[in-house]
Amino acid sequence: MADTALLAVVVAALAGLLAGAAFSASRRRAGERARPTFRSSPHYTEGLHCLATGQLETAIHELGKVLRDHPGAVEVQQVLSHLYREVGRVERAIEIHRALLDRKDLTRAERAHTLASLGTDFRKAGFLDRAAAAYAEALEVDPRNLHALAGQQKLHEEQRHWREAYEAQTRLARLRKSDDGLVQGFLQVEMGREAQRAGRAEAAEQAFRTALSLDRRVFPAHLALAAAWMERDPRRTASILEAAIGAAPERAYLAFEPLQKAYAASGEPSRFVALCERLVGQDPRDWRARLALARHLRADGQPGEALGLLLRALEANPHVLLVHLEVWRTLRALRALTPEEQRYVTTVEESALYFDPHICTVCRYRADDMLWRCPHCHEWNTFVEERVGPTAGAR
Ligand SMILES: [Zn+2]
Repeated sequence: MADTALLAVVVAALAGLLAGAAFSASRRRAGERARPTFRSSPHYTEGLHCLATGQLETAIHELGKVLRDHPGAVEVQQVLSHLYREVGRVERAIEIHRALLDRKDLTRAERAHTLASLGTDFRKAGFLDRAAAAYAEALEVDPRNLHALAGQQKLHEEQRHWREAYEAQTRLARLRKSDDGLVQGFLQVEMGREAQRAGRAEAAEQAFRTALSLDRRVFPAHLALAAAWMERDPRRTASILEAAIGAAPERAYLAFEPLQKAYAASGEPSRFVALCERLVGQDPRDWRARLALARHLRADGQPGEALGLLLRALEANPHVLLVHLEVWRTLRALRALTPEEQRYVTTVEESALYFDPHICTVCRYRADDMLWRCPHCHEWNTFVEERVGPTAGAR
């Protein structure tokens, strides 16, 4: 398991434990029942230690021993079931949650938490209808249960029910008093795309605008708006894309193609050169701006300048195959290739599959392309280009 994923498990499990402690405190205040003294068990301490050091199976083992001596310890059951789910034994988690729900002495908060956890078990196991029912029941018990609301939101996302996901996220943000504009913005983009597919152009544009009013960094909203204006008003398209780059310069390369087109259509192709030069100046490792500029220059009949740019891009990014390919193409344009080398370049162009490796900054999931939502941890806007540094011993 990746370190970050492990950390997430530990944090989530500890959060469950703290929630349990809060429940027991509230119950003590309510004087409903005395708590078993499971905290004095050495297995409890050992279980927590294993949890903190990421030994999940041993933590399960130790906490299981605590439960054997103190079968009524609700919070230990909550944590244990969470751990079972995380190590892939969802059926055990479901069993524990069902047994907990049979108890008559649960507080309202405990019942809601257990129902929400059961919902997440079902969601992870792929029983989406049952998950929806469990979350709904949890919210009936406690309409402000954050775990159930967050689970419901994820469930809507997984089913691509974007409007419902947006509404759930908005409710969550209100309850948590958190700024979830970025996620809400991405959900608006999905709603806009849905409207586009249904031929409702105005509703789509409105959704993209709402996305940007929620958070300017929602890059696909800029791209979609720019695409919508390209035919009618290329100058406007260019200014939309320039604003996008201003809001999220690390995503600039995603705007290169439409921007180049928009500048050309508005009769100012040289502005693209100026933009790339500015980006290269800001980040000397930016091979994408160099590559785009080199292509532009080669097409403009300046292959010599293009080659210089590409060689500088290669120095900092020797792993990027696209730059290598562009060097060969530029050499071909400079008529510097022997017939054998020309055959080699043609073969490479025809046969090679070019990946653009990206990695999720939350869960380290790797993808061959830029994605807006991680297919593994389901977070939004977490992908960055996977960069390879010079190997040890290299210059
Ligand atoms: Zn991820």
